[in-house]
Amino acid sequence: MPKYSIRRLSHKWSLIRNRWQRQFFDRCQLCSLFFKSHFYNIHSNAYYLADTILDPLFYAIDHYLKYCGTLFVLVVFFLLFAFISFAYIIGVPYWYHRSQPIFWIAFTIGHWLLINVIWNYFKSLYTLPGWAIDKPIIIEVTSFCKKCSAAKPPRCHHCSVCNKCILKMDHHCPWLNNCIGHYNHRYFYFFCAYTWLGTIFVMAFGVWIAVDHWFSQFSPFEPIYIPWFEKDYITDSLVIRFLWLFNRPKWKTKLMVFEAIITVLLFILLGLLLRYHTILITNGETCIERYINRKCRRHFQQYNRHYQNPYDFGWRENWRRFLGFDRHRHPWLHILLPSNFGPKRDGFTWETIDDNHLNDEICYKII
Ligand SMILES: [Zn+2]
Ligand SMILES: [Zn+2]
Repeated sequence: MPKYSIRRLSHKWSLIRNRWQRQFFDRCQLCSLFFKSHFYNIHSNAYYLADTILDPLFYAIDHYLKYCGTLFVLVVFFLLFAFISFAYIIGVPYWYHRSQPIFWIAFTIGHWLLINVIWNYFKSLYTLPGWAIDKPIIIEVTSFCKKCSAAKPPRCHHCSVCNKCILKMDHHCPWLNNCIGHYNHRYFYFFCAYTWLGTIFVMAFGVWIAVDHWFSQFSPFEPIYIPWFEKDYITDSLVIRFLWLFNRPKWKTKLMVFEAIITVLLFILLGLLLRYHTILITNGETCIERYINRKCRRHFQQYNRHYQNPYDFGWRENWRRFLGFDRHRHPWLHILLPSNFGPKRDGFTWETIDDNHLNDEICYKII
């Protein structure tokens, strides 16, 4: 066989390749052994890994979020103010001259939504969620908070941004610079719900204005005539002059684009948030409890046992309690109109399915 034949070269190459592969796998195994000998933990899993990776983010939220709180509140305030003002500036002249009956219907619905949005926004902003330190003696204690050096009642959790133990803590909302807990949970939910309904309202009445503005050839209506914005319309009204100023084509297009973007974004993001909180209320749990309950459920499943959330009285009863149907003769008034209606208990003691007459019914459903 010649010294440099193809077969000899390929054989030599395969030997070298095999040696490299062996070396590579040996190194990988060594690295794996090195990593495991330093970091292996029988309790580690994907959640633990995610927690570790996200730890710097949690640190930043815990230590710096409180300093950005006012800025976040101002951003929300500005967006809400712009969203509402632009709806007025563009919508009022259009519908006032398009159809008086529709205008008055929209005016009534719009103001009902607006009052509820503003009321629930400020109530969730300024109502304290309830602090565990407010009561010197706590009868029911589930754990001890090392940071507050105080006992924690059921459903109470420590907020690292507020640095306090919050009663029935749901989450810390950076957009409100406040914790959402026992006393303001209802206001927060209603604020999200009414704002989301507001976006539907703006889309329902705004879409015709957009069609008239950009696609007038497809509009089912006659071209609109708004005398307020004609040159020979004489008025001393500052309101009409102000509306005219921002209804000039140059401004109107910009305002409408801004309004459309904000409306669609709020509709999607608030819709997702509202859906999540609706599921939580339906299941009788908070954001934090959902995470804890999921872990408990998984743990119980390992032993072929069923875990039952002690505060889940069934979806109908959970909603009855949240909306106040269990303690007021006219709860709809408190839902549809601005109201100071508070929760039933003080947040330090809680009814569970074990001490409720619904217990038998719930157990029956589980079986
Ligand atoms: Zn605490
Ligand atoms: Zn907080």
